[in-house]
Amino acid sequence: MEQGKLFVLSGPSGAGKGTICKEIVKREGIGLSVSMTTRAPRGVEEHGRSYYFVSEEEFQRTIDEGGFLEYANIYGNSYGTPKKPVMDYLASGRDMILEIEMQGAFQVKTVYPDGILIFVLPPSLEELKNRLIARGTEDEREIQKRLQATLNEIALIHEYDYYVINGDLEEAVDRVRAIIVAEHSKVDKNIGRLTRAYEEEL
Ligand code: 5GP
Repeated sequence: MEQGKLFVLSGPSGAGKGTICKEIVKREGIGLSVSMTTRAPRGVEEHGRSYYFVSEEEFQRTIDEGGFLEYANIYGNSYGTPKKPVMDYLASGRDMILEIEMQGAFQVKTVYPDGILIFVLPPSLEELKNRLIARGTEDEREIQKRLQATLNEIALIHEYDYYVINGDLEEAVDRVRAIIVAEHSKVDKNIGRLTRAYEEEL
């Protein structure tokens, strides 16, 4: 059976990658990986749906057991993608999407080179700043830090396969869908299946 494809949506916080991801999952029926984190749940977040909320000890144990596809420490909290559910899902022929930050995205590319990295950009730093202010989860100093971090991340955009500017949500979602379709139309090492199918018909 053909392996599913792994799409990695990454980019600065506040660029809207979470929202795009939710829409893609809803419309494309693609699987969404649930990460493990040591941070506390916020608001309506549910264990096992938004994240697996775990202790530092459990997170460390999972690292020691080699249970993560990738992991990173972000602003003092640890986040990681459990490896087995992703690999099982892909092996069943279905696509999966990860919504993670940049360090993790690069780790995925190293251990799973077939992963497709998509960078989600805000339309401008001004707009990003406005979104962070509206979200209200960071103070002024933290926002300045995030803007600087965004510039540092944009400097590494050449490491990605695709980029999507998230000005208008509908347009951004359409572009990600177009990327998914394009990846499934690619002539790659699996194309032998297709030629064999034609040969068998003859
Ligand atoms: P938040 O705490 O706001 O939910 O997420 C903070 C950041 O962690 C976001 O940029 C999010 O994409 C990223 N993140 C969430 N899960 C993972 C993960 O499993 N691995 C990595 N590397 N980053 C993650």
